[in-house]
Formats: sequence, structure tokens, C-alpha cells
Amino acid sequence: MTASVIDGKVIAAELRTRVAAEVARVRADHGLTPGLAVVLVGSDPASEVYVRSKHKQTQEAGMASFEHVLPADVAQAELIALVQKLNADSTVHGILVQLPLPKGLDTPTVIDAIDPAKDVDGLHPVNAGRLASGMDALSPCTPLGCIILAKSVHAKLDGMNAIVIGRSNLVGRPLVQLLLNENATVTIAHSRSRDLPQLTAQADLVFAAVGKPDMVRGDWIKPGATVIDVGINRLPAVDGKSKLVGDVAYQEALQTAGAITPVPGGVGQMTVACLLVNTLRAACAINGLKPPAV
Ligand code: NDP
Repeated sequence: MTASVIDGKVIAAELRTRVAAEVARVRADHGLTPGLAVVLVGSDPASEVYVRSKHKQTQEAGMASFEHVLPADVAQAELIALVQKLNADSTVHGILVQLPLPKGLDTPTVIDAIDPAKDVDGLHPVNAGRLASGMDALSPCTPLGCIILAKSVHAKLDGMNAIVIGRSNLVGRPLVQLLLNENATVTIAHSRSRDLPQLTAQADLVFAAVGKPDMVRGDWIKPGATVIDVGINRLPAVDGKSKLVGDVAYQEALQTAGAITPVPGGVGQMTVACLLVNTLRAACAINGLKPPAV
């Protein structure tokens, strides 16, 4: 039996539709237009693609989109001054500084400068701490997307054994906290973990966020498990065509998993959709409105 494929494209499109409907309602009922400001420093081609896609999807959801492009050699003080200006701007409810930043800029200091109420990337220590304390928080978008994808297969994650492979601040750590909030039993693995195949084989839910092409093999996976592949790895071009693959050996995993996300077309699709959710949530919270029903 082959696994069913979790279609991130369709699930993300449904989520964007729900966000757009809520944005329209909030505007009609309260005269509020949520606004997202994205700050791009330098001209990293991958970052430019992400920023363009964020801009387009923000506008399509009926929100205001503000783009700020700074040169790669911008002084840290100038970048922080821009963040502070956006913190004070009442038309901006979400601030995202596109990462990675060019060399010479200190990422933690820049993130620290963002008002936690507008931190739609969920990376500010206040939001990370609130999430880890089980409090209401703006949470990072990729892990939020992972939870939605897992819940598209299992309405409840209660009591399920989950493994998260990877412990970055961007993906692994917040994902663990979100899974705990869903009452899953969580193992967090990383480069020092012993016997990863055996740890993975115990999991009903496998989240791979490593950045190593095809690292998780099909025979590591418990038959019928749900596999969410966060990895985005670009393989060197063959015949002029480069290829994106995940952290899971997809063709092998299809034979053992019960459900699996493809790369591309899985988690990646959810990240921007969840950014829109966070911007709408931030706009409501800042204006004293109850959280949106998305
Ligand atoms: P990081 O490089 O920050 O973290 C990678 C993690 O993987 C680390 O915790 C590291 O462990 C762990 N790791 C490395 N090698 C191994 C190994 N052999 N066995 C077990 N664990 C290992 O990456 P990110 O979390 O930022 O990203 C992970 C992947 O997800 C990347 O492919 C990235 O492109 C992708 N990504 C996708 C997004 C999307 O929208 N779909 C968004 C963000 C990321 P240690 O801590 O011990 O070093």
C-alpha cells in the first residue's frame, strides 16, 4: 500500500481563503486593514523570491503590504531604526525581517528590536518564551504549518508519539512546543542523537527539519506513520535542471508511511499562509479584537 500524499498546495489555498474572508470581515466590522511590513536586506536571490511571494499573497488576502529593501552593507543602527519606525507605525501590524541577514549584521539584536506584538515570524525571545510556557504567543510560521498538515490527517494529536528531527529556533524547537500543546508525546532529535532510525521507528508522527537531502530512509518509518518533511534541499543541476528534495527519501517513504508531504508542494506552501494568519492575529490583538476564526 502506498501512502496518501498530503497536498500542502490545496490546504494552504483553503487557509488563505479563510484568512481573506476574516480580513474582509474585520475591515467591514471595525475599519481595520491588517498590514505586513517585510524588510529585505541585500539581494539574496532565494530571499527575493520569498519576499515577492509574501507581497503577492498578502495583497491577495486583502491586507496592506509594505516592502523595505536595504543595501547589504547597511549599518546595523540604520536597520534597527527602520524596525523601530515600523514598531511605531499604526498601519503596520506585522514586521518580518527576511533571514538570513548579510554578514556584519547581528540577527538576534535585530529580532530583539521588533515589538513582540508585531513579531509575526514568532522569533522574538518573548514569543519563544511565551510559547515554551504554554501561553498565547505568535509562533513561527513553518511549525504552525506543520501542525495544520498533521491535523489534516489526524483531527487530534493527543497521545500520539511524535519525533521532531532538528532543534533550530526557527523550526524544531517551536514545533516541539506546539506538539506539546496538542498533547503529543514528543522526542526531539538532533545531530548528537543516537540510533535515529530506531527512535524514528517508534513515532506515529515524523517531522524532519534537518537540511540533509533524503536523510530519513523509508525503513526507519513505522508502517502507517504520518511524515511531514520540512526540508528544502536543492540538488546540483543535472542536464541543466536543478531539483528540490526534502529530508526524507520520498519514494521509499511512500511505501511505508500512511501519509506524507511532498517536496515541493508540502510544508513550503504553508509557511506564507501561516504568516498571513499571524498578521491577522496580530492586527486583531493590537486593536483589542478577539482572535480571528481561521
Ligand atoms: P538548521 O540548520 O538551523 O537546523 C538543522 C537541525 O538539524 C539542527 O538542529 C541539527 O542538529 C540537525 N541535524 C543536522 N544533521 C543531523 C543529523 N545527521 N541527524 C539528526 N539531526 C541533524 O536548519 P533549519 O531548522 O533552519 O531548517 C531545516 C530544513 O528545513 C532546511 O532544509 C530548510 O531549508 C528547511 N526549511 C523549510 C522551510 C519551509 O518553509 N518549508 C522553512 C524553514 C526551513 P544540531 O542542533 O545538533 O546541530
